[in-house]
Amino acid sequence: MPALEFSRRYAMAHRLIADPHSKCATPHGHNEIVTVRLAATAPLIVGGANHLARFEDVKGRWHAWIDGHVDHALQLGEADPLIGYFRAHEPARLARLLVTPGDPTTEILAACFFLKLETFLAADGLPFAVETVRVEETPTNAVIASRADAEALTCALPEDAWPRRADMSINDFAPTRSPAHAIL
Ligand SMILES: [Zn+2]
Repeated sequence: MPALEFSRRYAMAHRLIADPHSKCATPHGHNEIVTVRLAATAPLIVGGANHLARFEDVKGRWHAWIDGHVDHALQLGEADPLIGYFRAHEPARLARLLVTPGDPTTEILAACFFLKLETFLAADGLPFAVETVRVEETPTNAVIASRADAEALTCALPEDAWPRRADMSINDFAPTRSPAHAIL
């Protein structure tokens, strides 16, 4: 059964505060590349179209999410006090925060991506399962998440957490109506 692989580039910012000696505690950014590898869950039927699904149908929702929501998001751990700043002063920007359990490392990001993509594939009824998600933070550093990493994250997340929802969300904040009436 053939596998599919595709890549997308995005810009992001984050900070890591759990390690008191980390030089990553001040907000900073990277241009990252996420490469996903999908395994077909059905055999290829030879003859005719000779594919299980059109490439654009498999990656369409995924790349729309990366381009429209992950790109230029600020990644923060759920306990980061900067979230309180945005709640108090810039609630309209809360939707642009990608929030992870614990520090937003490349490792947890790759696992979140794995779950989100698998949720998208299931919602679209596509005959593919995620095999790996590779996040290249710099040209010399990359993290590859596999199913075991995704399962570990699943155990730590509520069933309706954003990586397990087939919507475009990157956090679990309630939608912001207006600064005066925000339900946060
Ligand atoms: Zn960094």
